[in-house]
Amino acid sequence: MSTGHSHPGAGRPEAPLDGSAEECADFLERIIYFIDNELDADDCSVVQAHLDECGPCLRKYDLERTVKAVVARSCRESAPDALRQRVLLQIQEVRIRIAE
Ligand SMILES: [Zn+2]
Repeated sequence: MSTGHSHPGAGRPEAPLDGSAEECADFLERIIYFIDNELDADDCSVVQAHLDECGPCLRKYDLERTVKAVVARSCRESAPDALRQRVLLQIQEVRIRIAE
């Protein structure tokens, strides 16, 4: 008899519009290499083509690129003297405390 719960079809998940998750997981790694310019020309064009078609990967690509740019910038700009002096001061305080 019926229990009220029916399972029409095989219960297949909806196919994603752009690329399979497996494919994208594979691309994600290559996208990172792509940003670092560590792919050869063939792989580059494959990744580029995927980014053109795949919204989620393009967003991850943008995010990775932005993060890298911010990190690179903050590394270059701020090895701030204030921070360094604060660290040096703390080291001195610790030394004094140990000496006492
Ligand atoms: Zn993708």
